[in-house]
Amino acid sequence: MNYDPFIVPPGAKISLKKDYDPAYKADFAEKNDAVTKLQIGVKQLATYQDILYAHNSYALLIIFQAMDAAGKDSTIKHVMSGVNPQGCQVFSFKGPSAEELDHDYLWRSMKALPERGRIGIFNRSYYEEVLVVRVHPEILNQQQLPQLLKGENIWQQRFEEINNFEKYLVNNGVIVLKFFLNVSKAEQKKRFLARIESPEKNWKFSVSDVRERAFWDDYMTAYEQVFHHTSTAWAPWYIIPADRKWFTRLVVADIICSKLKELNLKYPTVSEESQQQLLRSKQMLEAED
Ligand code: ATP
Ligand code: MG
Repeated sequence: MNYDPFIVPPGAKISLKKDYDPAYKADFAEKNDAVTKLQIGVKQLATYQDILYAHNSYALLIIFQAMDAAGKDSTIKHVMSGVNPQGCQVFSFKGPSAEELDHDYLWRSMKALPERGRIGIFNRSYYEEVLVVRVHPEILNQQQLPQLLKGENIWQQRFEEINNFEKYLVNNGVIVLKFFLNVSKAEQKKRFLARIESPEKNWKFSVSDVRERAFWDDYMTAYEQVFHHTSTAWAPWYIIPADRKWFTRLVVADIICSKLKELNLKYPTVSEESQQQLLRSKQMLEAED
């Protein structure tokens, strides 16, 4: 599949409503075709991750942003289901703690970055600082930042800081993939209702989710700004259709695989001397009675 239409071209001004269809499903007629393809993708990802781990030079940071009930959790669960847990870590970012608020806003993300050889997943991220914080200005008011630095150009400044931060990561061998799971407002309503109606899903529902839904348009505008300013050549944004969960998973798995494939990593080979050692060890083992 060609994933170019999902990328936000660097600098582009996009309209989520006009340019990106949450219900898009390419040529897939039904879920079953996609599920088989996803299984292949999950297997491939496990192999690439194993090589990444063996190489221990690159790291992969995957960022998920979305409105509530867009399927972040289940996408992470399905896409990473084949990966060795030792080579993968997931961080979910909630509202910052008192300790975190005592630091600059990237501090907590810095501490959560994946080590070389690993895949790190951010379930929400520092992008909340230009999303929820922008939609609810009272959050910024409560931050410890000096009043003087809370001026009008704070968002523009944060975009630049984020771009520079991501450039820094890429220059240090951390590949950055950013996914926005694009669910429609109608589908979100359906999923909220399902969470209310089905007892096994009740725990997933929070009253605050419905409150945030009332700010839908403000969020969409904030997201459009984020895409315009922070989709860069080194860390582009992918806007993934999210009204069909099976399609979301398939596309995300495929994009991660193709990114890892591009690195063209092979299992590291050992030196002539180490090979000799391997041979000697083999002889010793075989000589045992
Ligand atoms: P789920 O609902 O599936 O468990 P979630 O990511 O929505 O996943 P919640 O605990 O419901 O998790 O919500 C986390 C909340 O924390 C979100 O409303 C998000 O906007 C908020 N949040 C995350 N980072 C920040 C931040 N830097 N400043 C303020 N709020 C933040
Ligand atoms: Mg939530």
